[in-house]
Amino acid sequence: MAEEDSTIEVDAGARRYYFDVRESKRGDKFLKITDYNKRSKKKTEMFVWFDHVNNFSKALQKAVAQIQGIADHQCEAGPQGFCVEPTCGKFLH
Ligand SMILES: [Zn+2]
Repeated sequence: MAEEDSTIEVDAGARRYYFDVRESKRGDKFLKITDYNKRSKKKTEMFVWFDHVNNFSKALQKAVAQIQGIADHQCEAGPQGFCVEPTCGKFLH
């Protein structure tokens, strides 16, 4: 079915994550995410359909930002034009 060389691997200690772009029989693309537990050799798979990939990605980025401490905030420009929130640092104008 799909080319295995398109697999993106993330090595994460006791686990390994795989990101695969696959295609359904109808030709629709979807994302397959596999969580592989190296100790138990157990695989957990999840699928994100192509028309939900955008929202999935946005939610993931939001969650990642929360973990990194860049939680949702209203950007406010400081004197140099950068956001005053130190973990944001976005250039506003
Ligand atoms: Zn900001």
